[in-house]
Amino acid sequence: MTIEEAVHQLEARLAQENCATPRLDAEVIIAFVLGLEKFRLITEAKRALTEREIGLIGKAGSRRALGEPVAYITGRKEFYSLEFIVDRRVLVPRPETELLVDLTLYHAPGNADVLDLCTGSGAVAVAIKHNRKDCRVTATDLSRDALDVARINAESLVGPDEIDFRQGDLYEAVTDMNFDIIVSNPPYIDPEEKSELPRELSFEPEMALYCADRGRSVINRIIEGGRKYLRPDGIIMIEIGASMEVDIIARSRKRGFGATVARDNSGRPRVALLKIRGEQCP
Ligand code: GLN
Repeated sequence: MTIEEAVHQLEARLAQENCATPRLDAEVIIAFVLGLEKFRLITEAKRALTEREIGLIGKAGSRRALGEPVAYITGRKEFYSLEFIVDRRVLVPRPETELLVDLTLYHAPGNADVLDLCTGSGAVAVAIKHNRKDCRVTATDLSRDALDVARINAESLVGPDEIDFRQGDLYEAVTDMNFDIIVSNPPYIDPEEKSELPRELSFEPEMALYCADRGRSVINRIIEGGRKYLRPDGIIMIEIGASMEVDIIARSRKRGFGATVARDNSGRPRVALLKIRGEQCP
């Protein structure tokens, strides 16, 4: 079997399993197994595969066919043009979450103190630190396992001890601190929706995806606790579910914040911005 034939075969198998992007996934998986850059699948299309390579492609392909996300099979995921290590201890970073980083880079004053809550793989904290060395970044997560992954990513992408990782429930690990920016991609999916979601999500840590109160409990706690840790001109930025805009603006206003919601590239409400002073965020 040649490389080209293997790509076609895996693409057809993944299409049959209703995978949304069968061609792309087949290419990424095969390039990973062969240790090649993706374009070389074309330049080496006619090369014959060894039995061993065919076996490895079959194994990796089966994992994908059963719904496992490509990022867990390759063990990496690009986010904000940086390559992160990921595995089943952490949520796979999503492209729409890059908006949180964009907004932080835009709004953070010079030498800002930034807090990333629910850091997971560390993608948001690391992307911020990578682009803004002047910021002091602290990142927390309830999961020790996730923090182990985040520390590996931080060490390789921004250097050891550049980000202060702390284990704890939201603000619990930073009770002595104040911040200019508090940023978070918390769990926000309603557990009731679990059965209707793509099967890829069943491979990801439940605590990173789901929470009580129809997916609002963690966001609400971030808002409620935020005032104590936010400097007077600070901003809280939280990734939210597309249907939560109205609720979250109302709750934030009740708690004395001016709130707006920024949309992602697909036009969906994605990031709530909360400020203590003023009705609207800049
Ligand atoms: N946006 C993710 C999804 O719908 C969920 C991430 C999260 O809960 N923070 O797959």
